[in-house]
Amino acid sequence: MKDSLEITKEAVVHMVPVMEAEGLEELASLASENGCQSMLEIGTAVARTAVYMAEQGLTVATIERDPDMIRQARKNIAESGKPVTLIEGDALETAVTGPFDLIFIDAAKSQYRRFFERYSPLLSENGIIVTDNMKFHGMVDHPEMTENRHTRGLIRRLREYRRFLEGLEDWTTEFLDDKGDGIAVSRRKR
Ligand code: SAM
Repeated sequence: MKDSLEITKEAVVHMVPVMEAEGLEELASLASENGCQSMLEIGTAVARTAVYMAEQGLTVATIERDPDMIRQARKNIAESGKPVTLIEGDALETAVTGPFDLIFIDAAKSQYRRFFERYSPLLSENGIIVTDNMKFHGMVDHPEMTENRHTRGLIRRLREYRRFLEGLEDWTTEFLDDKGDGIAVSRRKR
């Protein structure tokens, strides 16, 4: 059986972007603290986080659109023997049935708001939505770190997303800036 550690090592060798280890630990802690039993992940890559969370006892569904990633994710999931369902396609188009106790947003950064709007109705009553890369390697606070136009565009979208979360009346969001690449934890107000 293949475990998440082995998948992580392979991901590092092949330079596949996966969640930072500290962020992953925090994701697992949040799942445990909030009694989450199911997770929907937007952005599978090679299924490292999906398999890791399944190892923690969650039932996982995960969406990926890139054919190369899908091929590797499918292989890793099969070899892990864990309860992970891979949904193939663009997360802005796929039909997914909920509810989920945890929704993890970790796909195209420019689309975070659309992912939130599309999938938040699938969140169970006391569930949480976790979004990764809120700091984007420190560049969200320090855009001067890059002159790359595309990266600057992503930084702007991440800032807009943060403001969007802060402005939601029915939701409360905690920004854990010191965890991994910065994660946001959103839940419905009660
Ligand atoms: N969550 C993964 C982990 O922690 O191991 C890492 C995901 S990686 C940062 C982002 C992935 O999202 C890429 O594999 C990319 O192909 C996928 N992606 C980006 N936009 C997507 C979309 N609209 N629908 C589905 N997958 C998407």
